[in-house]
Amino acid sequence: MSTNFIRQIIEEDLKHNQTSGRVATRFPPEPNGYLHIGHAKSICLNFGLARDFEGQCHLRFDDTNPTKEDTEYVDSIIDTVRWLGFDWGQHMYYASDYFERCYTFAESLIERGLAYVDSLTPEQIREYRGTLTSPGKESPYRERSIIDNLTLFRDMRAGKYQDGEHVLRLKMDMASPNMNLRDPIIYRIRHVAHWRTGNAWCIYPMYDYAHAISDALEAITHSICTLEFEDHRPLYDWVVKHTEVPSQPHQYEFSRLNMTYTMMSKRKLLDLVNQGHVSGWNDPRMPTLVGLRRRGYTPASIKTFCERIGVSKADSLIDVTVLEDCLREDLNEHAPRRVAVLNPVKLIIDNYPEGQTELCHAPNHPHHPEWGQRELLFTRELMIERDDFMEEPSKGFFRLYPGAQVRLRYAYVVRCSSFEKDPQTGEILTIHAEYLPDTKSGTAGADAVKVKGNIHWLSSAEAVKAEIRLFDRLFKDPNPGALDNYEEALNPQSLVVLNQALVEPELLNAAPREAFQFERNGYFCMDEVDGTKESPVFNRAVTLRDSWNSTKGK
Ligand code: ATP
Ligand code: MG
Repeated sequence: MSTNFIRQIIEEDLKHNQTSGRVATRFPPEPNGYLHIGHAKSICLNFGLARDFEGQCHLRFDDTNPTKEDTEYVDSIIDTVRWLGFDWGQHMYYASDYFERCYTFAESLIERGLAYVDSLTPEQIREYRGTLTSPGKESPYRERSIIDNLTLFRDMRAGKYQDGEHVLRLKMDMASPNMNLRDPIIYRIRHVAHWRTGNAWCIYPMYDYAHAISDALEAITHSICTLEFEDHRPLYDWVVKHTEVPSQPHQYEFSRLNMTYTMMSKRKLLDLVNQGHVSGWNDPRMPTLVGLRRRGYTPASIKTFCERIGVSKADSLIDVTVLEDCLREDLNEHAPRRVAVLNPVKLIIDNYPEGQTELCHAPNHPHHPEWGQRELLFTRELMIERDDFMEEPSKGFFRLYPGAQVRLRYAYVVRCSSFEKDPQTGEILTIHAEYLPDTKSGTAGADAVKVKGNIHWLSSAEAVKAEIRLFDRLFKDPNPGALDNYEEALNPQSLVVLNQALVEPELLNAAPREAFQFERNGYFCMDEVDGTKESPVFNRAVTLRDSWNSTKGK
């Protein structure tokens, strides 16, 4: 486990008994979209700290914005955090549970002259706020009497006013160089039903206010958020100090995850879905956790990634290959090996008798002999990858071409004798070869003939059809989020569907999302949405690091 500045802060706090020996963190998603890989960084950090310091991490839905939120998102968030392997125990909360307390604290702020009802129009409020270089102007309503403020605020709650007629603001400092402190709005009128509280409320607290109170009510010790909230911290502290909350949490900020070739904002991801650029939130090309999971990403690979990228305050753009490497490492170790021929072409072994069959033995994993072997049927007619054959070999091509010898992995060395092609299209139809009977893998003669190429194959007699989906980056531009129009950067090749692919019969038993290394072709998993035993669909999660000619094994 690597350390980071937040971990060090907690260690110091514990050493000096700042939090009575307790560590309580929280992950506070707004249920207005699906979680993405950026959220995973926050989840791993918050739940990881709680685990390592024997504290607790709360899952709290920040459902203060009634218009954009939905139970569909809540359900998915719960499912995804669990899938990653984290547990909040009894500590699942909703900011909306605290609406009544937030309201009571607001009345108390009014009573102490710390908050007032403002009746400027939204445009005027914006105008009065000033700019980064000029101070704001105080509202003419700022000095309302406490009793007037209380009456107005209660009437706001009672539904006597329209949206936008009044707001409740903290009386802070309109001249503050920090714009967040220029009398921030803490309540606004919204005549909309909330998915949890229904029509109980027509005023809703603003995030900064509700968030600080939620943390304090739950006795969070370390409230960890991303850097864009750094300038909000004085407001957070102010709310904790001036409301009658039972504890004093502190906020700490770290830099958010940005990743090359990836858009991370939920708003833009929603747009991708709505515009039909992807098939849904769980499209395997999406950076959402449901998308990555469907693609074949494992919880372990995502946790390794979050550990590897670390936590700091420095802005960073992580190369997407770091994430891909984490998956490769995990699947290389844990995924059984299988054979699939993605673009098949027929290979006839002319000197192998028609009707004869034999079994070849292929290990399920080269480093796990205890995983055993499976049997591959060898017959006269085989299927191999189309691009393992060249009519006229280019320099450095060591696979099949007329006259060349290669090993059919786990079987024999064969020598290519001829081929047939469609005179019209030039397409190769059939390749012919002869096998060298004494060269079977695992027998004494296996090493007698040295070959440079080693290719995989399946028997036409037992191979089964499968649909294979090859994914590439969704964007051609390394930083699509920064573009004015991300649509121009969409990669038209991000999904290639292969309909002719063949796989080992063994793969019909694959469970949804079960991952395999298809030898020489990458890591694949059964698509959990479209794949069935009758018509299997495999997603390529990630390519192999090694190229074809570094793959060994007989
Ligand atoms: P987005 O900007 O993608 O819409 P958000 O910050 O609005 O995300 P929330 O639901 O509010 O999404 O986020 C929940 C938690 O996850 C917050 O604490 C937030 O700081 C954290 N988080 C969101 N995006 C990232 C990211 N890219 N890297 C690290 N943490 C993130
Ligand atoms: Mg947010």
